[in-house]
Amino acid sequence: KDFRNDVKPNWCPGCGDFSVQAAIQRAAANVGLEPENLAVISGIGCSGRISGYINSYGFHGIHGRSLPIAQGVKMANRDLTVIASGGDGDGYAIGMAHTIHSIRRNIDITYIVMDNQIYGLTKGQTSPRSAVGFKTKSTPMGSIEQAVHPMEMALTAGATFVAQGFSTDLKELVALIEAGIKHKGFSLINVFSPCVTYNKVNTYDWFKENLTKLSDIEGYDPANREMAMQTLMKHNGLVTGLIYQNKEHPSYQELVHGYSEAPLAKADLSLNQEHFDKLVAEFM
Ligand code: SF4
Repeated sequence: KDFRNDVKPNWCPGCGDFSVQAAIQRAAANVGLEPENLAVISGIGCSGRISGYINSYGFHGIHGRSLPIAQGVKMANRDLTVIASGGDGDGYAIGMAHTIHSIRRNIDITYIVMDNQIYGLTKGQTSPRSAVGFKTKSTPMGSIEQAVHPMEMALTAGATFVAQGFSTDLKELVALIEAGIKHKGFSLINVFSPCVTYNKVNTYDWFKENLTKLSDIEGYDPANREMAMQTLMKHNGLVTGLIYQNKEHPSYQELVHGYSEAPLAKADLSLNQEHFDKLVAEFM
């Protein structure tokens, strides 16, 4: 069960994305997957390269579109464990509509967002996760836009699994990804993954000073959605751990009529051609 391949990542030394790659590989092995059982689908950005660094099926898609591709893969072959991945610019700007609708659809895939609060691949512009006042080449006098709060957004969109990790806490991150893979529905895992080259504000030290672990909050209950929202607001979203999980809500697959039949990827195509021709004939 080795999810490593021979491709050497070309991330900057110290980039938080290295840990996310390692965490996905460990989590996949821990839940008993083989490389041929996993598909990693990514978008565009430094983080988007991750699909090429993991020994599994993979697809490096276009900007903001990892989720439509990942959902298509899952619907065509439910036997695959599907992980979509990308950065905060990819998922919370151009891909935001896909993020929201994937959440409310609750299709059984895991979405891991490497959140570094900046556009790294294009050399340092303000992203949807940058705070007000954040100075970059695109906002030399400081950003005047409010940052997106993905965890709160996910809760209001009806998410059934919401979690947040930090690149340096590999143990917690592996556990969260394992739980996300096992969750029967859409799991969103936002990972604080520092960009050491362009973001000199939200550094490893900054996160260590500002993050609170939910496991340190007495009585925190991830089954309580109201408590999850209140805790996020109290800590300005800077918490790590399993924020919320609803194990009762059915996944998209469970609700789709006829989904219990053979996966499309394994269907008898000659039989399907006959059905397709019949269907087309009805519309003629
Ligand atoms: Fe990572 Fe930033 Fe370098 Fe991109 S530019 S590889 S996000 S450290």
